[in-house]
Amino acid sequence: MIGLISATAAGAAARDRLATAWPDRTRVYGGVPVREAVERAFDECDALVCFLATGATVRLLAPLLGDKRTDPGVVCVDEAQRYAVALLGGHEGGANELAASVAGALPGCEPVVTTATDATGVPGLDALGWPVEGAVPSVTRAILDGTPVTLRATAQWPLPAFPDNVSPPPATAAPEAPTGLPDTAVEDLAVADGPRTTLWVTDEVLPLGPDEAVLRPPSLAVGIGASRGVSSDEVIGLIEQTLDDAGLSMRSVAELATVDAKAGEPGLLSAADRLDLPLRTYAAGVLADVEVPNPSDAPLAAVGTPSVAEAAALTAAGEEARLIVPKAKSVRLDGAPAMATAAVARRRPRGRLALVGLGPGARDLMTPRARDELRRASVLVGLDQYVEQIRDLLRPGTRVLESGLGSEEERARTAVAEARAGRSVALIGSGDAGVYAMASPALAEASTDIDVVGVPGVTAALAAAAVLGAPLGHDHVSVSLSDLHTPWEVIERRVRAAAESDTVVTFYNPRSRGRDWQLPKALAVLAEHRSPGTPVGVVRSASRHDEQVTLTTLGALDATVVDMMTVVTVGNTATRTVAGRMVTPRGYRWQT
Ligand code: SAH
Repeated sequence: MIGLISATAAGAAARDRLATAWPDRTRVYGGVPVREAVERAFDECDALVCFLATGATVRLLAPLLGDKRTDPGVVCVDEAQRYAVALLGGHEGGANELAASVAGALPGCEPVVTTATDATGVPGLDALGWPVEGAVPSVTRAILDGTPVTLRATAQWPLPAFPDNVSPPPATAAPEAPTGLPDTAVEDLAVADGPRTTLWVTDEVLPLGPDEAVLRPPSLAVGIGASRGVSSDEVIGLIEQTLDDAGLSMRSVAELATVDAKAGEPGLLSAADRLDLPLRTYAAGVLADVEVPNPSDAPLAAVGTPSVAEAAALTAAGEEARLIVPKAKSVRLDGAPAMATAAVARRRPRGRLALVGLGPGARDLMTPRARDELRRASVLVGLDQYVEQIRDLLRPGTRVLESGLGSEEERARTAVAEARAGRSVALIGSGDAGVYAMASPALAEASTDIDVVGVPGVTAALAAAAVLGAPLGHDHVSVSLSDLHTPWEVIERRVRAAAESDTVVTFYNPRSRGRDWQLPKALAVLAEHRSPGTPVGVVRSASRHDEQVTLTTLGALDATVVDMMTVVTVGNTATRTVAGRMVTPRGYRWQT
């Protein structure tokens, strides 16, 4: 819940605007003195928006501050609503994000974010979504200051990009160093010997130096076998002991797993709940097929699989998982028989391929999710002209693999290969990445060993339609007129089908220098079934600064105004021009 507090009339108006925009997420603290309102909201809410000066807010908040992990995030909005300032709890309190959304909800308002990592585009260690331990402030400081930070990951995790000063340790010197090393190499070794700020990425428990921090990847799955009536204390004790003995961190455990028959076992459910971990369950038949080191007869008789803990851990950890701690039994102080078994499997880290549609061109038609994916990637693959469009959004250190037109297959292959190597990759395309674009060649290459995330984008047909009016108000299709990869006969057959079925058509790739007869031919096919007066919209560079819009008719269209930056939308027999806008009726009877 977001608490809203104001003191002046202008503040109250802005406060009410926000309360109306987010009715379910906000609570207005009014009718009491401001100090009391702030105190109550601080106590009751996850976040506060104060329509007060920063100075006043700081004085009111000072006596209330506790711990940055639990205090609500606080955003201040000035009297003229020009700025939404993230004042407190930028990362963990969510104030940076809240400042951005408040600014989005108040016209003309801009977010102000001062936490260094956000302002410079460097990922804050606490913003990666993984638990982090150790000297977080000093490692963050070093990353920002550009002083060397050694990144020591025990596996290739799909991390976001870090700036150049964060790098893996230099390769260990060859046993017999070649003579005549260049000076720089000597210096590198000298640096490597000195004290280093280190960022670890591992599930192993390590003794941390004063300048070391560790990120805990979600790498472990713990399989649990349990007898009926087991207590949650026994389960948790066993998990903790098992991890401890193996030198593994509880904070890297991503999930608990068991057999379906134990899905309702209260001690297991309560253990998962207390550890704040999901409990996954699998059918006995699935577990029985998993090869394990320690099968036994007891579970086979009881639940129909010779292994629960080991098999469930391996199944939950997925393809190419490794069992790193075999089945262990709980030890009970009273000497009674153990009621729980546990085993630990480690996941093979999976790379991540995001297929990101950038939208038609205008920055504000790119979705926030697309933006997030660009910032989550350490490798960006795309056509050079699209890369230019978003270069400023990338984190420093993002590796950009750009290529020119025509090398689509190579781009797709590169993106998949980088993801397979365990990296976090964004493959970008204009509009929607799945519409006449890179998503299909990429996924035709990809196998099950990577995670794939699709981010939809505003495709050219929609961007153009919004400019033209409402041409897509009834059934519509898109047809690409590029016969580079599709025989013309196929294209013509589809255009004819659209013509015969009276469907609105948007032509992509309508005309280029070497390809000029296809558009007139396609229009002629449509004209066999539509009158010369049928409205046609021609939109070039939709949403870009050089956008051009022509609203004409099937009979009057001058095909030479059309080029490869253009889409052409042809109405159906019901489409009309109303007040200069193209409108296709929805076809309800009450509209005829
Ligand atoms: N993936 C893109 C389409 C790629 S095919 C999308 O979803 O929009 C390339 C064709 O898209 C171009 O030849 C043109 O017909 C169309 N196109 C892309 N962006 C456009 C824009 N901003 N304005 C008009 N047409 C556009």
